[in-house]
Amino acid sequence: MNGKFLLRDAAGDLQIVRISDRSGIPLIGTVAFGVIDRGTSLIQVRPSSSCSMSCIFCSTDAGPRSRTRAAEYLVDLDYLLEWYDLVASIKVSGRLEAHVDTVGDPFTYPRIYELFRELKNKKETAVVSTQTHGILLGPGDVERLEESGVDRVNLSIDSLNPAKARLLAGTSSYDVSRVIEFAKVLANSEVDLLIAPVWVPGVNDKDIPKIIEFALDIGAGKRWPPLGIQKYEEHRHGRRPPGVRPMRWRDFYRALRRWEEKYGVKLVLEPGDFGIKKDREVPKTMEVGEKVLVRVVAPGWRRGEVLGVARDRVVTVVSALGIPIGAEVRVRILRNKDNVYLARPEP
Ligand code: SF4
Repeated sequence: MNGKFLLRDAAGDLQIVRISDRSGIPLIGTVAFGVIDRGTSLIQVRPSSSCSMSCIFCSTDAGPRSRTRAAEYLVDLDYLLEWYDLVASIKVSGRLEAHVDTVGDPFTYPRIYELFRELKNKKETAVVSTQTHGILLGPGDVERLEESGVDRVNLSIDSLNPAKARLLAGTSSYDVSRVIEFAKVLANSEVDLLIAPVWVPGVNDKDIPKIIEFALDIGAGKRWPPLGIQKYEEHRHGRRPPGVRPMRWRDFYRALRRWEEKYGVKLVLEPGDFGIKKDREVPKTMEVGEKVLVRVVAPGWRRGEVLGVARDRVVTVVSALGIPIGAEVRVRILRNKDNVYLARPEP
């Protein structure tokens, strides 16, 4: 295992699942790994699920402090590219964006630079982009990023203040000064930089204008907008900082519009700002309410879940405590939005 994987050790029961063409696990059907198609010209590519940080607002409860994760996944590069090709072949817009964004940090993937290069070499791919908090990156990595062909890095910096940034990161080793230095060098490279802070109300309100000024000062966003401010949201399985209530969308957009005027920069973003268009989607193979026989192939990414396979899709089965790998289980499909399948065993 790559030395960059810093895995939770509390209970010692976190499993690493390697997924290759021999695993019999399709790469469409879960948000934890593989390929996600939401019916646009952007294809999400997820090679790994791990993270080295434990941000206090993390929507996916990632990192060493996770309380819900039971498994992390690592997908074989060639196998991932096969599934990217499959999804890309369905699209008609011709200029696709391959967006490498995981439920952790994409830079935990040992072959991340090769993945960027391979995606970029595909004739259908116009843009390769990724997103990260940058804990595994420093100024010395910019050259490798340039060589990899990645077009844009969405970099989350949630505070420029080292102590506040560490608090938000939930990680004592997180050094925002290094990430700031990385951002400065990246902004002057061939790779575009979009700074994407998460605004956690009551925690980093005063930091957001400073981050806007920083992004403008260093010249972020040459081809695309320089900033993509993200709104903190409560997620059922995500981490919630004590005492923090999410902002109302109305208030969030009002604040963005005020800063747009003050700084003369676009902050309310739309898919069109990134050239993303609607496109054909991969057909769904199971309907909500349908009863399906799944073959259990791996632990689920959260405790009490397993991964099953049916009709060329991976299915997350909830309420699955005690169901062994290899079992065949009759389940009912609870959701299938964007070809992401959730199911429950039938009594
Ligand atoms: S927010 Fe991102 S960097 Fe932070 S713990 Fe979650 S996945 Fe990791």
